[in-house]
Amino acid sequence: MSVLEKINTEEIIALENKYGAHNYHPLPVVLSRGEGVYLWDVDGKKYYDFLSAYSAVNQGHCHPKIVNAMVQQAQTLTLTSRAFYNDQLGPYEKFISEYFGFDKVLPMNTGAEAVETALKLCRKWSYEVKGIPEHEAQIIVCDGNFHGRTTTIISFSNDDNARKNFGPFTSGFINVAYDDIDALEKVLQSSTKIAGFLVEPIQGEAGVYTPADDYMMKAKNLCNQYNVLFIADEIQTGIARTGSLLAVCGNCDCENQCERKATYATPDILILGKAVSGGVYPVSAVLANDNIMHVIKPGQHGSTFGGNPIAAAVAVAALEVVTDENLAQNARYLGKIFRKKLNEYIQTSNIATLVRGRGLLNAVVINDTEESDTAWNICLALRDNGLLAKPTHGNIIRFAPPLVMNEEQLLDCVAIIIKTLQAFEK
Ligand SMILES: *Cc1c(COP(=O)(O)O)cnc(C)c1O
Repeated sequence: MSVLEKINTEEIIALENKYGAHNYHPLPVVLSRGEGVYLWDVDGKKYYDFLSAYSAVNQGHCHPKIVNAMVQQAQTLTLTSRAFYNDQLGPYEKFISEYFGFDKVLPMNTGAEAVETALKLCRKWSYEVKGIPEHEAQIIVCDGNFHGRTTTIISFSNDDNARKNFGPFTSGFINVAYDDIDALEKVLQSSTKIAGFLVEPIQGEAGVYTPADDYMMKAKNLCNQYNVLFIADEIQTGIARTGSLLAVCGNCDCENQCERKATYATPDILILGKAVSGGVYPVSAVLANDNIMHVIKPGQHGSTFGGNPIAAAVAVAALEVVTDENLAQNARYLGKIFRKKLNEYIQTSNIATLVRGRGLLNAVVINDTEESDTAWNICLALRDNGLLAKPTHGNIIRFAPPLVMNEEQLLDCVAIIIKTLQAFEK
């Protein structure tokens, strides 16, 4: 590496430090190009991407079909607002609704906006259909949740960092322990004013915390029983990441039949973001059937960019790639190999204690405290060895590569991860 290039990296990092708000703490690597499962830094060093922009880039970096859809549409029509119709939105709405098996979609841009939309939809349904007195609806959420960064969403977070000095908060939420069906049932029994249950099928940000296989199905059945909407936040788990199209349908074991439809625990409201666009454009979506979606009338909710022609064209291409390239099956197949290999290593390891996850959303728990910098240092060493990953909490490293990876590449990555962990063995 020449001195000039080295200065370049440091200068770019210094610019962010000086001119950007310090709301992130990135791993020190400056990326300038991506293709498939690979990223390159400004010095031309090549890396495997094992974060996929928090599971937005499931289809791989710069997928030609998705990029082409974006370029074509960007040269034709970019934004009309919803004051007028555009020729891309209707076909996209039909496509995504049928793809996931719902009557309707409400298009937004970011994940947090889609979560906000789902919460508003749930409350409105509870007043106008279920008959809860106005302003009294409660929505159940889980301990350890991550649903985004808006004021309402952080109102029910347990993360002190995300909440401290951002109050006052929005009321109307009840926390329950995650992966605890009895606790959920107790809360459902306790009040007639419960409108919905908002849940991540796997808690990604919490550290890829993976619940019991039947938790989603039991939770969904309880919600049915109490006439409460089951709202799945699949922004991180969805779109083939966990080895099935949606994580809520991940355990029915019909590897090939159910990839186009959630049959295991169909949510009443499905929230998608991130990989809806393959990471090339901010696109999010809220899906529900007519009996719920009909409560939203003109003027009651919206977004200037939501459902814009670029978003629509890009999302159709990105979802077609998921089907055409069998990404759910590939994630399921490679995920099993990943956990098997890591588990074999962990038997002999003092530094790694556990690997967990489903499909290609996995995490390795590092044998040190949450406050230690061991996991961070391991991620620096992984970077030096050509693989990019990031701790979720202090001692948990998430491993989530693009789903277009092949078996040879995965085995290469497993070797890099094991070699790196070995250097940290005590
Ligand atoms: C990333 C994420 C969000 C928020 O999405 P943004 O696009 O960052 O607003 C919400 N829920 C889950 C589960 C996520 O992983």
